[in-house]
Amino acid sequence: MNNRLALLQERLDAIEDPLTGKGLFTSGRISGLEAREDGPDPGKVSFTIEAPPGEVARYVPLRDRAEADARALPGVKSVVAVLTAHEGKPQTGGIAQVKHVIAVASAKGGVGKSTIAVNLACAFASLGLRTGLLDLDVYGPSAPTLLGVRDKPKPGPDKTILPIEAWGLKTMSIGYLVDASSAMVWRGAMATSAVRQMIDEVVWGELDVLVLDMPPGTGDVQLTLVQRVPLAGAIIVSTPQEMALADVRRGIAMFEKTRAPVLGIIENMAYFEAPDGRRTHIFGQGGARRTATESGVPFLGEVPIEVALREASDAGRPLAAAAPDHALTQRFRDIAEAAHANIARFAKPAPKITLS
Ligand code: ADP
Repeated sequence: MNNRLALLQERLDAIEDPLTGKGLFTSGRISGLEAREDGPDPGKVSFTIEAPPGEVARYVPLRDRAEADARALPGVKSVVAVLTAHEGKPQTGGIAQVKHVIAVASAKGGVGKSTIAVNLACAFASLGLRTGLLDLDVYGPSAPTLLGVRDKPKPGPDKTILPIEAWGLKTMSIGYLVDASSAMVWRGAMATSAVRQMIDEVVWGELDVLVLDMPPGTGDVQLTLVQRVPLAGAIIVSTPQEMALADVRRGIAMFEKTRAPVLGIIENMAYFEAPDGRRTHIFGQGGARRTATESGVPFLGEVPIEVALREASDAGRPLAAAAPDHALTQRFRDIAEAAHANIARFAKPAPKITLS
């Protein structure tokens, strides 16, 4: 992703969506954002604004403004801004129209799994993929904090629940529905039924990627969960020091039972970089990459310990969406790109039919 794309996103987000009161990009109205750096049309920018059903007229002036604002950016030579009406497709719950479900898992809590899941989801969205985030950590939901969501989800038609749009993502979390402290005391059956509701009754609609923030651990709870959903793959998050081969193997084994490929391992809190550029490997060095290689799974990348990431998370402004120019945002995009590429790489080929 180039710099111009980040600028464009920012510019489009400065235009307020009349229905959500937030930026056009954050409200999920922009799709197919492209900026050509080279090729036949250098400096050409194109994107689509999707107006909700029956609202096209209201979005015409916004399209014109978006076009003008994009054209005003340095280096932009031509702009194609298409306005489409989102057809009033029947709103049904479930993930039937989701192309790829990706589970983000960790063997232990506190390794930054939720932080990675949220920022990775934002990175997928910034690559132009329609992305959802489902926080399945019913015992410690963190999406409300990480995304700064304080609203309650609205009911949709036919007993469905509408996801909450935040930072260009469709999101759902048990933390939106109940008080976090009351979910903590739920027993298995209640947690399972809450999870089922969030998958089957939420109107996820058409998505390219749905990121699942899994509860930490590799036990039965997690296994039951991943067996409920057809996964395109899993991403395992670990810090360097607990990247014991055994931990990763347990994670990989769990996903093997579900036949979901492990798209890769992310090493979080890999090192701390001082202002003078010197790196300290607080939790050790190189373990994750080595372990990934030994286990035969891809290594997706390292995320350093970064104060800005912690601050952005606490403030409910995910770094990878709120700070498009931050070096770590680019890191998340690289990781998202690698993970996305691995979906196709590991996809099981369609069964071959031979006629004799
Ligand atoms: P988990 O989901 O694995 O329990 P969290 O995502 O909740 O972990 O992260 C735990 C804490 O560590 C949070 O306060 C979070 O902001 C912080 N954190 C996670 N990753 C990083 C990082 N790379 N740099 C700085 N702080 C981080």
